Amino acid sequence: MTSRSGAGPRLPQPRKRLGQHFLHDVRALEAIIDALGPLAGRTVVEIGPGRGALTERLAGRAGRVVAVELDRDLAAGLRVEYALRPHVRIVEADVLDVSLGALAEGPYVLAGNVPYYITTPILFHALEHPRPDVAVYLVQKEVADRMAAVPGSKVYGALSVNLQAFVKVRFMRAVGPRSFNPPPAVESAIVQVVPRETPAIEPLHERAFRTFVIGAFGLRRKQMLRVLRTLTGLDASECRSLLEGCDIDPMARPETLSCDDFARLVRALAARSTPPEPETASG
Ligand code: SAM
Repeated sequence: MTSRSGAGPRLPQPRKRLGQHFLHDVRALEAIIDALGPLAGRTVVEIGPGRGALTERLAGRAGRVVAVELDRDLAAGLRVEYALRPHVRIVEADVLDVSLGALAEGPYVLAGNVPYYITTPILFHALEHPRPDVAVYLVQKEVADRMAAVPGSKVYGALSVNLQAFVKVRFMRAVGPRSFNPPPAVESAIVQVVPRETPAIEPLHERAFRTFVIGAFGLRRKQMLRVLRTLTGLDASECRSLLEGCDIDPMARPETLSCDDFARLVRALAARSTPPEPETASG
């Protein structure tokens, strides 16, 4: 919304419970746009447009913008602002209740200075199909670090594996609290997320994969032999042979395993519990 003082309608006070920290740093806004790549003719879905600082930049470059805002007052203000620009659609909704792909009606890219209280659910919501060709998020720096972490690093965990199995994550740049109004209590960062050409795990096993990874990192100080025994209830010798069959050291800790290691293990567990196909009588 354009009027920030005296002349125009008054802006509503930021609502803390909706994670409202409005970005006013031009360089950070431009960094989000740059990380999205070429926008001409493309559809952008924006999460939480707020007062429209990012929306306005997207509207000037993209073919279509669909912005999803939960705050009724902000959504109403944006609807007025964009009433005469039909390529910008403001949707008043909880972003977790809408299908991003259905809103886009075709290929799309995703952008958002997201509300920090639901960052993780948003990241997983955006993994549903159809996935955006690229997503750029402004998130808490601590979350960005975990999203992009590599095996063996201190912050590598379930979030890293469960995202990186499906997408490539790139840490773009840090953004300080003073870039926002009101300033949040924490550092923030811009991350770029692009779907992997071949995900580490196939759709059939996605659910089991996520559950197993969360379980394993719940036991991150334990060795994989113990982790597997605890999570499956199988005996030690079976766990050892499963791990060795997957080329995983039974003494390794979960924090050293790659997405592909976890994927091999989840597939092996699924194969173990799937009864073999009955032989067909061939006459
Ligand atoms: N994009 C704006 C900017 O950069 O200045 C605002 C970012 S602010 C961190 C997060 C925005 O998401 C707020 O406008 C807030 O009202 C909105 N929001 C909070 N929860 C939401 C939800 N569940 N669905 C959609 N929008 C939400």
